[in-house]
Amino acid sequence: MDCPKCKSRSTIVIEARRDLAGGKRRRRECQNCKYRFTTYEVYSHDLIDDDQFEKDIKKLTDSLEETKHSIVNTIDNLLSNIKEKS
Ligand SMILES: [Zn+2]
Repeated sequence: MDCPKCKSRSTIVIEARRDLAGGKRRRRECQNCKYRFTTYEVYSHDLIDDDQFEKDIKKLTDSLEETKHSIVNTIDNLLSNIKEKS
């Protein structure tokens, strides 16, 4: 992967993360100018199978559920704070 700034070919991956859609996000650093940039690999040859898809959907719904709970808790806390003060 060429550096977008100085076009050097010597870049390294400093962090790689897989997203829920099966794509990959890579944080890279140029060894020449130290410029940091992010690349995204979307699907390409890295297609996911049905099992992985089910797992990813479950992860997504679980995390949505957690978010929902934390929002409800925050609202509950705010409401009880308001009640205590009035
Ligand atoms: Zn560079």
